[in-house]
Amino acid sequence: MAAPPQKKAKTSADALGPTLRGTATGAVHGDALALDEGDVPAWAFSSLQDVAPPLSVSTTFTNQESGEGHVYSRITCPTRSRCELLLGTLEGTEEQPAHCVLYSSGLAAAFALFSHFLPKRVFISGGYHGTHQVLAQLQKISDGARFKKETLQSVTEIGGSLQSGDLIWLETPLNPTCQVADIKAYVAVAKTVPGVRVVVDGTFAPPPLQRPLLLGADAVMHATTKALAGHSDALGGALCVRCAAEAQQLRQDRMALGSTPGSLEVWLLMRSLRTLHLRVERQSETATRLAQWLQRATDDSSHVLSGCIHAVHHPSLTLEPLATQMRGGGGCLALELSSEEAAKALPEELRLFRAATSLGGVESLIEWRRKWDSTISPLLLRISIGLEDFEHLRADLERGVLRVSGKE
Ligand SMILES: *Cc1c(COP(=O)(O)O)cnc(C)c1O
Repeated sequence: MAAPPQKKAKTSADALGPTLRGTATGAVHGDALALDEGDVPAWAFSSLQDVAPPLSVSTTFTNQESGEGHVYSRITCPTRSRCELLLGTLEGTEEQPAHCVLYSSGLAAAFALFSHFLPKRVFISGGYHGTHQVLAQLQKISDGARFKKETLQSVTEIGGSLQSGDLIWLETPLNPTCQVADIKAYVAVAKTVPGVRVVVDGTFAPPPLQRPLLLGADAVMHATTKALAGHSDALGGALCVRCAAEAQQLRQDRMALGSTPGSLEVWLLMRSLRTLHLRVERQSETATRLAQWLQRATDDSSHVLSGCIHAVHHPSLTLEPLATQMRGGGGCLALELSSEEAAKALPEELRLFRAATSLGGVESLIEWRRKWDSTISPLLLRISIGLEDFEHLRADLERGVLRVSGKE
């Protein structure tokens, strides 16, 4: 039998992989290049020849004499290992690699994060209501000894109250009002007290819009259910950290807890990551144009929606001081109409926006958010922009808002 062809020895100049981290090219090739370059063992992804990653559903794997290889899918499996490598590629850079651990949902990832760092106190304000439920659950388990919630003050106020063992949870932009927190500034205050961590829930600003690890955050959490999977068909969560050993500890915890995602969901996520940059950039661009158009109605009496709009919230409308933190304001915006009745009626009135919860998918969604969270203004609608044409979405909103405002 002919000897297998020898791979040509690679020089460091050939090592394309690291330089592509964090780029659209990395989203398409990062996993295969890592394999090519020997950064992961050949068995990790199980099939070396497929151009499109295969969906591996096996829960158990034949034992290898070498002791290498996958064993049981709660521990590792080919589809998940490959997807974790790919998402890690997207959160890192050449100088600063990142490592990803996937979970069965965004909240499972949040639970894993809190139970890994075991903070005495968590500085958190507003944002996704489910994260507060996770903390309540953990407080119950720890009999109130840990995970005590503290109000997240401004960067200037928080410094004096921090103690070792605290965790600052920054959801930025914030769900649903889109306020942006200055990650770098919170990291700087956290660094003044040893043992304080900063974690970012980056669900509203996935890569390539925002890269919290590069700004010094200790970890970034994503509900991959949203923009990362991007098609409203796969529940999941992710944690990304800078240090490989930390990711390994998180995987150990996950193995013990069993909060692993199913292979189909992970495969769908991996497929979607290939187009992440295109989708997220387009969604962000369309949301920005819509937010600007809607906001003009609040101060221009000749605007077709003048008198109908109370306020509009989108990071692009206030981003100036944080221009270096976000590359675009993201695909979500919040719209406050002039009356509660109009706000409640709008979701049913629109044709292209589906009246549904969630965000980040290819289809635009709209939701009267107070339904879930009594702290949210009754005038407010959360809007997630999909991949439809700007002009169609604008026209649908114009018609719908005029109608619910009794102006048509
Ligand atoms: C949806 C969401 C979560 C929770 O994710 P699940 O996958 O639904 O568990 C957490 N944070 C934010 C900002 C979200 O939008």
